[in-house]
Amino acid sequence: MQSKINLLGLPLEQLKLKFLEIGLCALDAKRVFPWIHVKSARSFDVMSDLPQKIRKILGEKCSIDRPERVVLQKSLDGTQKALLKFEDCNHIETVLIPEENRNTICISSQIGCAIGCKFCYTGTQNFIRNLSSSEIMSQIFFWKDSLEGSITNIVFMGMGEPLLNYENLSNALELLLNNKAHNFSKNKITVSTSGIIGESFNDFAKFGVKLAISLHASSDEKRSLMMPINKKYDIETILKAAKKYLKNSNTDYITFEYLLLKNINDSSIDAQNLAKILHKIPCKVNLILFNKWPGSIFQESSMEKANKFSHILLSRGIRTIIRKSRGNDILAACGQLKSYA
Ligand code: SAH
Ligand code: SF4
Repeated sequence: MQSKINLLGLPLEQLKLKFLEIGLCALDAKRVFPWIHVKSARSFDVMSDLPQKIRKILGEKCSIDRPERVVLQKSLDGTQKALLKFEDCNHIETVLIPEENRNTICISSQIGCAIGCKFCYTGTQNFIRNLSSSEIMSQIFFWKDSLEGSITNIVFMGMGEPLLNYENLSNALELLLNNKAHNFSKNKITVSTSGIIGESFNDFAKFGVKLAISLHASSDEKRSLMMPINKKYDIETILKAAKKYLKNSNTDYITFEYLLLKNINDSSIDAQNLAKILHKIPCKVNLILFNKWPGSIFQESSMEKANKFSHILLSRGIRTIIRKSRGNDILAACGQLKSYA
């Protein structure tokens, strides 16, 4: 039996084409679209303005099913992590971080990751495949279904490198930003990249969402040790691309993520160098303390070191925060996601 086509990740134009392929018309697609994205319909049967005959065809050939939730873990701090299973039996993890006034969800873009950063648990898992745009969007639907309030912020900081799955990422962004679909504002969505600033990076600026770059070091020597991808896209190239992004995307600043690893990149000299290379780039620095995982070789910097590092950046006029880690106890924090097929 041929598997049904999942519609959750199809922007309207693609939905129309798909409908034409299965013998329906563009107008049907226009009717179905808000049912999926605004009303969060979970079956075609509830789409009351569609003739019964069309609902039947849709039920036979298409689906708006969410992935199966295999495990849901709740952290002491309220963070939730779900292990979701897709049709081909591959799994991913996705995270909800509830705070007083907001609900942030952390989305995965790939199964595993090919970049292989030394400090990241996901990086120890082989790259299996990209998620389809429907699988990316299904994580939004999954949390939307389970939440009483609404999702306020979306970060692409889960498993995988979003800019290496650009086509599907861009379909998802199109749906999230579309005011006839999920209607998120640009500044509520953040895409984090390890610095994949190839061809698609130029196109990506058109969405105008917030960009976070995982910099983690202020010299190529150190960065290459932590992130082998630095041999392809080095710091100078990344900073040049970041400036271009600011211009083309019309965003106010770039966030640079800087993971503090004990005795590796957390000295005062590291901080001074970082301030030097970020000088003149409108940016914020998020200092991240290392989240341990089974088998990790690094150690986290002390809070004292982190504060000192932060003060050096602040004193040089760089907006800096030390990012609070959430969900460490259930391995739901940055760099702790891993799924098993
Ligand atoms: N692949 C993208 C997005 C996912 S990772 C990227 O690398 O940017 C999200 C953030 O978590 C990145 O800044 C990443 O460097 C950081 N991270 C990875 N492993 C970590 C760990 N063990 N502790 C803390 N942060 C980590
Ligand atoms: Fe991949 Fe990001 Fe982890 Fe690096 S930090 S291995 S790019 S998920």
